[in-house]
Amino acid sequence: MLPAAAVGVAIGALAGRAWRRRGRDEARQRSAVSRVEAHLASSRSPAFTPAKSTALRRDVQELVESKEATYDLEVLDRVLRDIRDLANADEAIFWRWVESRQTLVPSAWSTEGEPRPAHFDVRAWGPIVRWSAEETSVQFAGLDEAPTLAAAPVSGPSHVYGVLTVSSATGMRFDREAARSWMPRFAAQVANLIQLFDLRREYGRHMRQSGALLDAVRRLHGHRSVEALGQALCETARDVTLAPLAGLVRWNAVAEHGVLQAISPAGDLEPGFHVTADSLVGKACISGLPMTLDDARAATVSSCAFGGLPRETGSVVIAPIISASTTIGALVVEGRNAGDAGQHEARNVGLLAAIARGPLEIVWEIEEVSIRARTDPLTGLANRRHFDEQLRRVVAETDRFGGSCSLIMVDLDHFKAINDKLGHDAGDAVLKHVAQLLREAIRTVDLCGRYGGEEIAVLLPQTSEQGAVELAERLRVALDARPTRHGSESIPVTASLGVATYPSPVPYGDWLMLAADRALYEAKSAGRNCVKLIRPSHVTPALYKAK
Ligand code: GH3
Ligand code: MG
Ligand code: MG
Repeated sequence: MLPAAAVGVAIGALAGRAWRRRGRDEARQRSAVSRVEAHLASSRSPAFTPAKSTALRRDVQELVESKEATYDLEVLDRVLRDIRDLANADEAIFWRWVESRQTLVPSAWSTEGEPRPAHFDVRAWGPIVRWSAEETSVQFAGLDEAPTLAAAPVSGPSHVYGVLTVSSATGMRFDREAARSWMPRFAAQVANLIQLFDLRREYGRHMRQSGALLDAVRRLHGHRSVEALGQALCETARDVTLAPLAGLVRWNAVAEHGVLQAISPAGDLEPGFHVTADSLVGKACISGLPMTLDDARAATVSSCAFGGLPRETGSVVIAPIISASTTIGALVVEGRNAGDAGQHEARNVGLLAAIARGPLEIVWEIEEVSIRARTDPLTGLANRRHFDEQLRRVVAETDRFGGSCSLIMVDLDHFKAINDKLGHDAGDAVLKHVAQLLREAIRTVDLCGRYGGEEIAVLLPQTSEQGAVELAERLRVALDARPTRHGSESIPVTASLGVATYPSPVPYGDWLMLAADRALYEAKSAGRNCVKLIRPSHVTPALYKAK
């Protein structure tokens, strides 16, 4: 049996309730007549085109389905001609129930090549046709032995599709008795045909959907960066749903926390946005179950589907991306209006999420490997190799664009004593705590690197000597004020800091690290827990030779 929704969408449901609402007085009848006239005056071809179809790109789909509908109509016309001839009638008409107009209108008829049925009297026949649908029984006009009109309901498994009429101005070949047995058979023939159209349309939709998703496989493979794949995935999600917004979230199941990886089109949300466990996306990720809200307005009053920002969202589909029973991400599409993103979207987004899993795992793995290769495992700061690369890049940028860049060398005071007194673990905890403090204090363009055991370097692009000294002083105060918590211990620690700035007073990029180190030495000599600048008099080739 066809899904009721498909039948309803394709043909238009003839709901009993709608019938009860209809009166049978003159005025209403007149307006029904004008509705029918209006319908006949308008184009015939999209009679079987669903009002809304969202399984694939809607524009492409509607084009394909409108072509199919034209073909369907030709087949139906042919069947109606057979029925007309068998009944020795002038005309056989299929009256389709049009939900949007709440009326029955002739949508196919036996007269060839005419924009309207040749034999047709809506004023006289309208009430009989309606009555036939309402009572789901055969109704007549004319004499018992030679009726001029017979109307039979055309019913599907769960809906009345419409009404079949046959008419003859001079009276038909059969009497009412015979028509009672013949008309339902004719009507069943029409109903079967309509079900076949629906079935074909449903299969067609499946075929086109698999085609588009196969195409997605091609589009999603071969990306080597998270950004490129994320963008391609969001674009594809928008293509197979036509939802205005699509986003990809990477989910950490252990921390119950996610990060937006890509979103299109770019709007108020940006990649890097934190997705919390209490957001709609967070809930779907934790449950591992897809979520579809046809009307998401109530659920997104105080925040958007991703959490945080309040934003108007009409409808939302969230498909978790699952690997080895763990949620590793989610694909999200949002419709502006309620009903924009519904069950059709949910299926496509779910399939796309399943297709994207493999490629995503690959790029996420590549990203992790590359992060690991440039990160110090204890502190999470840049390692020395990566820091040196970035230092060279920033010096080159300063040469190109002008301005200055600075470097701060931070060395913990008497750190050895902490290890000696409290143990290596306590020392590690202090290093992690210091790294975290420094990371929080700098701008996103700045970079902290672990340079040696307990030496941390801070790279400051586009920063003058004065700006660097001010930051160094803030870092010193913050470290002094916030001891490390380690178990029940509170471990105070201070640091000495050396500052050097390129291109003045340090004229060569290669000398920057040595100069900051030299300034650090001055700070240690001055009694520790202080900030020192490299002195111009110390910037000599001797600095480099002393390396
Ligand atoms: P100063 O004020 O002169 O800098 O004294 P200091 O004790 O900090 O300097 P020193 O260079 O003599 O000692 C640095 C210590 O840092 C030695 C080493 O045991 C410790 N260290 C280096 N790396 C690590 C690490 O990864 N974890 C721990 N816990 N300690 C480390
Ligand atoms: Mg030290
Ligand atoms: Mg040291």
